[in-house]
Amino acid sequence: MEILPVQIGDYVALRKPHACGANRWRVVRLGADVGLVCTHCDRRILLPRDEFERRLRRRLPGEETENETSGG
Ligand SMILES: [Zn+2]
Repeated sequence: MEILPVQIGDYVALRKPHACGANRWRVVRLGADVGLVCTHCDRRILLPRDEFERRLRRRLPGEETENETSGG
């Protein structure tokens, strides 16, 4: 299984912006499908991994840093 260059909580830009005009997504789920939430309108989408990899344009720097918490 390949590892995507993103982790949950990362921000990414896709090749096409969302219908709302924003192109900044937060990764909320990684697996067979990749869950993304639009940071502008909070719409959540689910893409098959291969489609996500095709649509992925680049990673974006996070807006805010979160302290790592133990546990899981
Ligand atoms: Zn949106």
